[in-house]
Amino acid sequence: MFRHVAVIGAGAAGLVVGHELLREGHTVVVYEKGEQVGGSWIYTSETESDPLGVDPNRYPVHSSLYKSLRVNLPRELMGFQAYPFVARNYEGSVDLRRYPGHEEVLRYLQNFAREFGVDQVVRLHTEVLNARLVESNKWKVKSRKKDDVVEEETFDAVVVCNGHFSVPRLAQVPGIDSWPGKQMHSHNYRIPNPFQDQVVILIGHYASGLDIKRDLAGFAKEVHIASRSVADETHEKQPGYDNMWLHSMVERANEDGTVVFRNGRVVSADVIMHCTGYKYNYPFLETNGIVTVDDNRVGPLYKHVFPPVLAPGLSFVGIPQKVIPFPFFELQSKWIASVLSGRIVLPSQDEMMEDVKAFYSKLEASGKPKRYTHIMDYPQLIEYTDWLAAQCNCQGYEEWRKQMAYSAFKNAFITRPGTYRDEWDDEHLVAEANKDFIKYTSNKSK
Ligand code: FAD
Repeated sequence: MFRHVAVIGAGAAGLVVGHELLREGHTVVVYEKGEQVGGSWIYTSETESDPLGVDPNRYPVHSSLYKSLRVNLPRELMGFQAYPFVARNYEGSVDLRRYPGHEEVLRYLQNFAREFGVDQVVRLHTEVLNARLVESNKWKVKSRKKDDVVEEETFDAVVVCNGHFSVPRLAQVPGIDSWPGKQMHSHNYRIPNPFQDQVVILIGHYASGLDIKRDLAGFAKEVHIASRSVADETHEKQPGYDNMWLHSMVERANEDGTVVFRNGRVVSADVIMHCTGYKYNYPFLETNGIVTVDDNRVGPLYKHVFPPVLAPGLSFVGIPQKVIPFPFFELQSKWIASVLSGRIVLPSQDEMMEDVKAFYSKLEASGKPKRYTHIMDYPQLIEYTDWLAAQCNCQGYEEWRKQMAYSAFKNAFITRPGTYRDEWDDEHLVAEANKDFIKYTSNKSK
């Protein structure tokens, strides 16, 4: 059974879904509002008119990349299984480092799209304005081209891949409305130069916060990091820096420009930068309330992909976080492509709903807040990807990939937080990965 499928977005997720749907024999249109494929990996020096990213009338910018960004996963781990992200295995590869800069990722994705012919089904400059279910299980997708021409087309299914790193989430800081300094979100951070001699407070100490603090340290007068994952009394000078401190969370901001931390320290600051993550956002999706976003839970979704009531016509790729994104998207895409062709049969609506409810109850019982619904830890990631692979009867994460995910994480967060991109201990796993990659000599899977 072959279907006519609309994919919304041509980032890493949309491209690999496009590839897997085509491989399965479906006909595909990938809608992309931007002028090239690659999504988040298209760096721009442009920032939004509202640096906090909350004004609904702001000019929106999709990518959150900063200029200095190098990938935070080793390239062997990061690439699609069918198209390893190996230095020199594709046209134009120039950054041979194991943790290359963002430009190399964009080249890799664009080569993937070209080599697998996905670029042939992408409609650039075409923004999806509305996607809705109509009678007889068909979906109408309304889109607008660059020249403002609006079109509507009917599909059997829609796969949503619009990314979730563009709409900022902000920390709630008592007193912030009358604090006179400048506030922004890391979404609008590009380069450190404008922060010369300023006192900057970064709220959030995960992926972006960790990079940006080092970027800023050479320019700013002082960098203060507020983290909610440390004890209230924490006040630690950061090793290797004489102008950077780690604090517990911000307690309040005052009219006189000072900011008070839970550890009692008071800092007079010029800038507060929220490195506090992003919100899921589907402004184009009309489901009559069947799918909602509540406190960063997109639901109900069976295995983070199919809303039971609308399955298999509607699906989402790439919602889970703290995963190994590209090969993760690839496995979800294989599952969706096979479900749409009828090679894999989903459980009944009731069974899927029961599964979702059981998952929510388990989260609640473990004390995790709703906003953690799509955040996976390492055992969950392995369990989930093994489950997907078993469903699809395809290769799940290879043993070396599972081990490398663990070693890379340990290296980045425990052993060498400052230097993990240039020093590591898992060379034996790199050798195993490279041996495995030989089978993709033509760079294409059959
Ligand atoms: P995106 O890449 O965001 O693509 C979504 C696409 O949808 C965009 O092209 C957008 O224009 C399009 N779109 C949106 N709405 C519409 C619409 N209505 N109509 C048409 N098109 C639309 N991952 C890693 O693997 N390694 C890393 O080192 C890494 N570093 C990161 C650093 C930062 C700062 C950030 C923000 C993310 C990082 N990631 C990293 C995660 C990265 O975002 C994912 O790997 C992946 O690129 C996400 O792909 P996506 O396709 O889901 O979304």
